[in-house]
Amino acid sequence: MEDYEVLEKIGEGSFGRVYKARHRHLRGLVALKFIPKIGRTECELQSLRHEFEIQKGLRHPNIVHMLGAFETFKELVVVTEYVESDLYKLLEDGTLCEDKMRMVACQLLSALYYLHSDRILHRDIKPQNILLTSDGIIKLCDFGFARSMDLNTYVLTSVKGTPLYMAPEIIEEKPYDHNADLWSLGCILYELLVGSPPFCTTSLLQLIRKIRYETVPWPTNLSPDCFNLLQGLLEKDPRRRLTWPHLLEHPFLENKVLLPPERRMFNTMFLFW
Ligand code: ATP
Repeated sequence: MEDYEVLEKIGEGSFGRVYKARHRHLRGLVALKFIPKIGRTECELQSLRHEFEIQKGLRHPNIVHMLGAFETFKELVVVTEYVESDLYKLLEDGTLCEDKMRMVACQLLSALYYLHSDRILHRDIKPQNILLTSDGIIKLCDFGFARSMDLNTYVLTSVKGTPLYMAPEIIEEKPYDHNADLWSLGCILYELLVGSPPFCTTSLLQLIRKIRYETVPWPTNLSPDCFNLLQGLLEKDPRRRLTWPHLLEHPFLENKVLLPPERRMFNTMFLFW
């Protein structure tokens, strides 16, 4: 901990607080996430430590780089690169046009493809977890930790934060897989174009009912390709949802999803999920 000068609090999630900090010798900015040990079983802590190990090994331009992790007596501390802003910044000037939404979509799909081809689910994709650098590069953060919770804790935690982006199969406590992340992605891309997520209400019960049973209110001004992509992602039945590898070939994306060369061959892997 002596290596870092803590500057300011930048956020707080269900796992703990996030601070902006500077490395005393290297001078670089980092984000420190403090996860209190209190209230967690030894098994959960072990699971988190295991997640950190996996995340340290991930390298992708659209995934926040984890620099390391250490422990104090009371906390687990995760060190990641610091990113200035998040997706809400893009919405400050109103909604996005389809071309700008495509740029975000392609970067998020590139990150998700990388994770999914390594059999890692995010499970908590929401605008707060999508960061934005000053150069306009999208960086996904906070993935994987959700796997360290059992499903009950996970649903409860997400419900606390209003599960606007949660897939119907998770809400219904059915088995789920990487398709649940693609639903959340659909919600976010819809929000970028429309200004609010497809199902939006402050009543939790109503929200759950809408996600499970109601049809998406579609704006009339979407191009056919854009509509087709969003409709495919926002398909309530995960077996009918648009997924890899068809997603990568979708005309709306114009072949702009960049895949690291070593991952391309994994295309067939998804058949075995
Ligand atoms: P939860 O963990 O409950 O899902 P959350 O994702 O909002 O909620 P955190 O991951 O703890 O919670 O992050 C809290 C906030 O801190 C985020 O919304 C984000 O704005 C900010 N943040 C997280 N990581 C970074 C980072 N590397 N650089 C800059 N800001 C970050």
